[in-house]
Amino acid sequence: MIRPSFTQTINGKPADNTAFFDVINPATEDVAGRAPECTDAQIEEAMAAAVAAHRGTWLRDRARVGEALGTAARILSANVEDLAGILVAEQGKPFGDAVGEVLASAAFVQFYAGFEPAQVQLGDGTTTRGRVSAQPIGPTLGITAWNIPLLLAFAKIAPAIAAGNPIIVKPSPYTPLSTLRVGELLREVFPPGVLQILTGTDALGPKLTTRPEIRKISMTGSIATGAKVYAAGAKDFKRITLELGGNDAAILLDDFDTAAMSERLFTATFDNAGQLCICAKRIFVPQGRVDEIAASFAELAAKVELGPGAQANVTMGPLQNKAQYDKVTGLIEDAVAQGATIVSGGRRLPGPGYFIEPTILKGCAPGMRVVDEEQFGPVMPLIAYRDLDEALAQANGTEFGLGGSVWGADVPRAEWVAARMYSGMVWVNCHGAGQYPNQPFVGVKSSGLGAELGSWGYSGASDLRVDYTTLG
Ligand code: NAD
Repeated sequence: MIRPSFTQTINGKPADNTAFFDVINPATEDVAGRAPECTDAQIEEAMAAAVAAHRGTWLRDRARVGEALGTAARILSANVEDLAGILVAEQGKPFGDAVGEVLASAAFVQFYAGFEPAQVQLGDGTTTRGRVSAQPIGPTLGITAWNIPLLLAFAKIAPAIAAGNPIIVKPSPYTPLSTLRVGELLREVFPPGVLQILTGTDALGPKLTTRPEIRKISMTGSIATGAKVYAAGAKDFKRITLELGGNDAAILLDDFDTAAMSERLFTATFDNAGQLCICAKRIFVPQGRVDEIAASFAELAAKVELGPGAQANVTMGPLQNKAQYDKVTGLIEDAVAQGATIVSGGRRLPGPGYFIEPTILKGCAPGMRVVDEEQFGPVMPLIAYRDLDEALAQANGTEFGLGGSVWGADVPRAEWVAARMYSGMVWVNCHGAGQYPNQPFVGVKSSGLGAELGSWGYSGASDLRVDYTTLG
């Protein structure tokens, strides 16, 4: 166990709890730590503190807010090892990846520390003057998933506070510890009520999304939960941003260059053990090249060091939780039962921990669960295609619309094909690349609503405002 228990941050103070729930280390199945079960009285206290922070003056002082965000970024960087260790213990990822997640979170905060929102000036300045600008929405609720808990939390915390809103973060019950630790580390940086961290099992989410004090919800998670959060917010017109599931297609053209490109696509598929919303999850391969391309991926799979993220040589960790472990195992079994062939991997590791070998399947097709559903695990289903139009129709023909990619040596041709992909983010000869704080993260169709990061994240944390004066 990294630490027996962590504390919630409510109204600038550590909250006093007697009930806790266990957080399981997915590499060992031991208890990684214990998180507080938020009480109803603590919800009331947190709501009152958020409303008071919204009514106060501190969040309206852009200079002070920017300074505090800069301090927060420095504190995150200075505590990178502590936070990365907690992430490894609760999420399972390799330590180096966890360090990357903490530093990328600090970069998000730093970006918003210096962010200057655009204003549009109105009027002629002599007889009339005015402007279009952003104004805070009010108490904000951030709800996060278990795959990249800190990065998701800071994609919500940083723009919310920069735009003048207090925020309550509710992390996933599977990975609450690193977010609780963030609350502890940043308690002195922001005034009471500006940043609060509440944890609980699944019942906590609906108790928060239905609160009238909450004026904006930004949620990352599954499409099914996204629909519930959207409905909960509709009653009193809360502003809603949703970052939901993906089932990204990667279309390999007939000039796919295995020597130059296989490793990049392999990494995009198996990063975080396949547990990223923007992992490549359906790989369309020209029919005549399936065996050769599959062999190039199998070679890369053989080099993966699968094991506990805390071990130095490990490059891929476990699935984060037992339900996901069982789901992904079931998808592999179902695909094989339906005629797919395992090229590489396919097995669970014996012993404790939710480890599945990086798995390459050929002979996959729409209609199989491993293709139709978001697998969210270390599985690469290869789908042979004869006709590019058909591949594009299948790639686009789902409710998902997060990312997608096209791969080929002839770049203009690949870009021409990519233009026909309907996703929020479309890449050529890469997948999931270029995640900068100034770039929007966006899904279309059921993969999301609104965008996070960059100026779009700031706009999503703000209401519009028009000021106009007639002079004289
Ligand atoms: P999930 O939907 O089960 O849970 C997400 C969060 O919502 C958790 O904090 C959970 O406790 C909370 N929650 C559950 N029910 C709720 C309710 N009724 N009201 C309010 N909150 C509720 O998702 P998950 O299994 O934690 O995460 C995996 C999913 O997240 C995948 O689909 C993945 O693609 C998606 N994801 C999307 C992005 C993105 O940016 N688009 C990024 C990461 C993960």
